[in-house]
Amino acid sequence: MSRRSAELFVSLLCSVALAWGCGSDDAPTTSTPAVDAVVDVVQDLGPEVAADLTVPPDVGPDVAPDLDAVLDVEPDLDAADLPDPVTVPTDLPPGVQAVHLGQVPFDEVGKSSDLKLTLPAETVGWLAVVQGAHPGIFGISKIISPKGEMLAKGKCVTDVCVDCKNRVGMSPATGAAILPSSTGVKAQSGNYYLQSCGFHWLKQGNQYSPNPYTMGPVTTTAFVKTAAGGAVPDQGRVLLRFFFTGGGQLQAADAPTDPRILGMLAEVSALYGVVGLTVEVVDWQDTAPGFTVVHLAEDLTTTGASDLDLLFAQAAPFGGSAVVDVFFVDQLIGGSESKGVVGGVAGGVPGPAFYHGIPRAGVAIAIASLGGDPVWLGRTLGHEVGHFLGLWHPSEGDGKAFDPLEDTPQCGFGQDADQDGAVSVAECVTLGANNLMFWSLGSPTALLSPEQGRVQRSNPVVWPASPPF
Ligand SMILES: [Zn+2]
Repeated sequence: MSRRSAELFVSLLCSVALAWGCGSDDAPTTSTPAVDAVVDVVQDLGPEVAADLTVPPDVGPDVAPDLDAVLDVEPDLDAADLPDPVTVPTDLPPGVQAVHLGQVPFDEVGKSSDLKLTLPAETVGWLAVVQGAHPGIFGISKIISPKGEMLAKGKCVTDVCVDCKNRVGMSPATGAAILPSSTGVKAQSGNYYLQSCGFHWLKQGNQYSPNPYTMGPVTTTAFVKTAAGGAVPDQGRVLLRFFFTGGGQLQAADAPTDPRILGMLAEVSALYGVVGLTVEVVDWQDTAPGFTVVHLAEDLTTTGASDLDLLFAQAAPFGGSAVVDVFFVDQLIGGSESKGVVGGVAGGVPGPAFYHGIPRAGVAIAIASLGGDPVWLGRTLGHEVGHFLGLWHPSEGDGKAFDPLEDTPQCGFGQDADQDGAVSVAECVTLGANNLMFWSLGSPTALLSPEQGRVQRSNPVVWPASPPF
């Protein structure tokens, strides 16, 4: 198996390998910042660069919370640019219903009360979206199934609950969780009990510590997907909406016939076709000027909207519901968890589907950083949308963390033959490097596994294969 020569070497890094684990207390107690957007990095024409997975460098040991004394961040509700929190999308795919779970303040440990979610017969999957505001970091902390099984433990962890039976994570301003996200989990009808949670970082000197978010009400909405017989459909349609910033000198008017875009769509269609998914672009729009170069948040403790939030906010005037917004820029710069040049970014794993213009609601592709190569564009688009639909990297770059799916090979750090701190495509040839969601692009092939397809097709934002309209 040979790598493309030349070597547009593309490495995809992800920030989700920060301090894996579920913590041990109800309130977050570590001082490692939470996962930000999933940032994927392209390292062009250079040696492989080890991921810098310990950020920020000035994080110190745990600091005793002292809200009054050290609070130096204030909620920036205007910057969050949130929609009316009681607005629930109504333009939904057939078989999908939205359930408003409430707008409630969090308690003194940063958690909602138990939120009852009653799922109808033939439910195959659900997505919950937690809408808060900066500087909070939000997610679904607890999931109890209709059979009383604890699928997420109720720990408001600072990044990803890697050993929860159904994996959940946290993200700034807007959180989201999906079920199923993991092998062995299947959606059931009946009553689920969920808990939303949030925290924010406090700085004392050069040290940060997580503290419960109690600054204001937070809205949680669930989207429930049903299908005939309660079986995850074998096929589905992913509807995308493209936004052009001028990056790659592309505009909405000419993009549909641009060979880079056509080649990209051919590539991603082939990749997704393996798991029964078709990809369709349903709308083409231009953004306001000024977004060809987008700076990602360098400091995860920032209190307001990031450039990425402002980019995603460009979708707000267009409304919409069950489409995934994709933004094409020239470059994505920075990101505190990455080195090199960023090739793509996803708002979350999963992203807050059905909402548009809010933080985390979209993916961005750096067309110039990817050299305008249709294959790399297609793989990056497929990879980032894969994150948005709920897929993790089968192996993180450090070879120490893996996705929760049993049919994706793991490439552990023992494979790091050159001991550069990262497991590369060459080192993982038979261990998942050829998976589309591998942390590093560069394999001649890019596959999706059956379990990855099941998670994707369970996401309520994925439409049925046969459109009734
Ligand atoms: Zn990734």
